[in-house]
Amino acid sequence: MIDGVSNDKICIYCHQTAPDRFRGVEHVIPQGFGRFGSKTPTLDCVCDECNGYFGRELDQLLTRDTYEGISRYSRGQLSSEARPQRRVSLTIADVGEAGGFVGFRVSVDGTTGQLMLPAAQFHVHNFKTGKDEVYFLPQIPTLVLPEGDYGKPGANGEKGTWRCKVLAPSREDHDAMVEALQRAGIDFRPGTPFQIPWESETGDAPSFLVEITSEIDKPHKRAIAKILMNFVVFHLGRDEALKPRWNFLRRYVRIGEGEIKARLSNRPFWTGQETDQLRFRDDSISIRIENLDGNIVGAIEFYNLPIYEMILVQNDALACDQEIARRYTPGELPLHGEKRPV
Ligand SMILES: [Zn+2]
Repeated sequence: MIDGVSNDKICIYCHQTAPDRFRGVEHVIPQGFGRFGSKTPTLDCVCDECNGYFGRELDQLLTRDTYEGISRYSRGQLSSEARPQRRVSLTIADVGEAGGFVGFRVSVDGTTGQLMLPAAQFHVHNFKTGKDEVYFLPQIPTLVLPEGDYGKPGANGEKGTWRCKVLAPSREDHDAMVEALQRAGIDFRPGTPFQIPWESETGDAPSFLVEITSEIDKPHKRAIAKILMNFVVFHLGRDEALKPRWNFLRRYVRIGEGEIKARLSNRPFWTGQETDQLRFRDDSISIRIENLDGNIVGAIEFYNLPIYEMILVQNDALACDQEIARRYTPGELPLHGEKRPV
């Protein structure tokens, strides 16, 4: 398919060769995670169509709606927008001074890295799943709460078996939520209105511990696999990346075909990392590709979070000098790393 092509340009994802379709630049690590000095790894062999697709479908998700994505805010890598997280659930944890705020669904403002003023929300316990569910104002008009799942609402002054509450940042938001519930036929009678004292007397926002829940699904895995494929291209070159052994990974990243074997690991990424001699700041991203258990395996560690390990090519091996690891720290040159101990 690619033999005999003499163009200077070829896309390693779709094999596009038209020179005028390579105006943009693909970054090995999405720029949301930072710029890595003058050694920011970029690729000139990803076409504009693939680059645009990755930006929309994979990079945005990874940088805004994953654990590592929101973790970047506390490493000084802020976003340009204050959009609530959709795929990562953040709730105020049941510790310390949280009190009645426990379970309040919140989100992080990407422009500041701080918790955003949360929207009014209706919490109701689902007895079938054993979980509290959270609904926001736009969802209320179509909300249906079958008795078999949620219990009996109160009626005619009698208390029902529903376990529910309304949490809101202000009295007005609280009342608007109660009104919406009643308009939707949900006879919620508020007790004492419960609202967040978001501004304390000193003007400081209160501080809460937050519990983060997220699911590593296919789009998330593809976004990580893309970084690993880009890393392969950057370090091993375009000719290597165009070899058929990378076809599975290429197609998985670009069109979502197939499924990749992946796991999370808590082992130290670098040899000696657990000792006092080698202690890193936790604001860097480490990536490696290596031979492991008869396969070519890629691994990436964002900050001090668990490491993603993925089988990139099954039943194949890199040459010794193709095994490679790098640590990227914003503003610093990438560090050449050793392979970790097996
Ligand atoms: Zn392409």
